[in-house]
Amino acid sequence: MAESEYLTVAEALAAVLEGVSVLPAETVPLLEALNRVLAAPITAQDSLPPFANSSMDGYALRAADLAGATADQPVVLRVVADIAAGTVADVTVTGGTAARIMTGAPLPPGADAVIPVEDTNEPWRDAERPLPDTIAIKRAVQVGDYVRHPGEDIEAGATVLPAGHKLRPQEIGVLASLGVSQVPVIRRPRVGILATGDELIAVEEALLPGKIRNSNGYAQTAQVLAMGAVPVSLGIARDTEEDVRAKLQKGIDEQVDLLISSAGVSVGAYDVVKAVLEQEGNVGFWRVRMRPGKPLAYGTYQAIPYLGLPGNPVSAMVSFERFARAAILKMGGYTQLERPTVTAVVQETIHSDGRESYIRAVVTRTGEEYTAVTTGSQGSHIMTSLVKANALLIVPEGVKLVSSGDLLTAWMIDWPETVF
Ligand code: AMP
Ligand code: MG
Repeated sequence: MAESEYLTVAEALAAVLEGVSVLPAETVPLLEALNRVLAAPITAQDSLPPFANSSMDGYALRAADLAGATADQPVVLRVVADIAAGTVADVTVTGGTAARIMTGAPLPPGADAVIPVEDTNEPWRDAERPLPDTIAIKRAVQVGDYVRHPGEDIEAGATVLPAGHKLRPQEIGVLASLGVSQVPVIRRPRVGILATGDELIAVEEALLPGKIRNSNGYAQTAQVLAMGAVPVSLGIARDTEEDVRAKLQKGIDEQVDLLISSAGVSVGAYDVVKAVLEQEGNVGFWRVRMRPGKPLAYGTYQAIPYLGLPGNPVSAMVSFERFARAAILKMGGYTQLERPTVTAVVQETIHSDGRESYIRAVVTRTGEEYTAVTTGSQGSHIMTSLVKANALLIVPEGVKLVSSGDLLTAWMIDWPETVF
């Protein structure tokens, strides 16, 4: 890669994604598969429902018996059985008879419909109440009414979920109902996170003159955790080549799938990360036409994909959001690599320097449209404007002035209706 190439955001993203691939599969217990990506298709071993059953508490009967039944002239049937959920009836429902049946209980042989208990003269669901000898029914039903048919949801042998499908709570429920207790999924990416700089002290430490706390290490760890990947802390590297090497080696030893560092990749005298990567890695140093977050290092370090984020906290987070997030998602097998976006009506004037700008803003839904208000200072060291934001408004490359009423794409880091 050429030194200090100038790239658009799209070019940088394409190059980053090019350098990572989907990780291998592993088999995990069902609940650990939540939010992960299926590595192989799931075929149903059973039908769902597995047997015909009642969708109501009521009486299983033959629909033909109820022809002409009304509240004034109910049809009376003899009750021959009581079928609770989980049991199987040993009777056959013949003409003139009915079986009391609970929701989910198997339909007895001979019955072809269910009448809800509310439409009988026995409107009690009390288990203590003795089974009546007869039941008076106040209306007719069609064959199949209140019966759930076997295979109505899933036919045995069908491919229920294809490989590549993301497993949400509803998929976990389906897998459970099919008896799938171990699930093949794409392995979760392990991401090594390194902070660099002589000015950094640990969060627990009291501030000293000239020092700041290592916020990036925590912010990037949280970003990795929030996407369901596995952070591996590589600590703080001092601005010496030996220390940077030692900390990166720790990541290699911990078998990370991606190395992420912050700071030390610009042109300062102490930017030793750059020096180490130039010697030991195959890393390019880019200037992305993006704001915040111009410097970005990308390539491999000892064959592991490497992403060097800028040091300023907002630049680091926004660069992670734009590049690292997509790379980690791709490695995890996901195909939707971008956040959801909406088109928002900007409520104020926004100036840009012509780089693709990510402006911290609050997007709200107002009737049919989304409106956007910026959250204050856009300095790359001002974290509170990111704290207030639920979106990043994207001012396209080449645009220097956005006026009130103009439309911008909003990259939603949270949805407008998400309130905490
Ligand atoms: P650099 O890229 O090393 O010039 O750092 C750019 C800015 O980011 C400087 O103001 C650093 O102090 C700040 N910075 C670097 N690393 C961190 C970190 N881990 N946490 C908070 N701020 C940082
Ligand atoms: Mg530095």
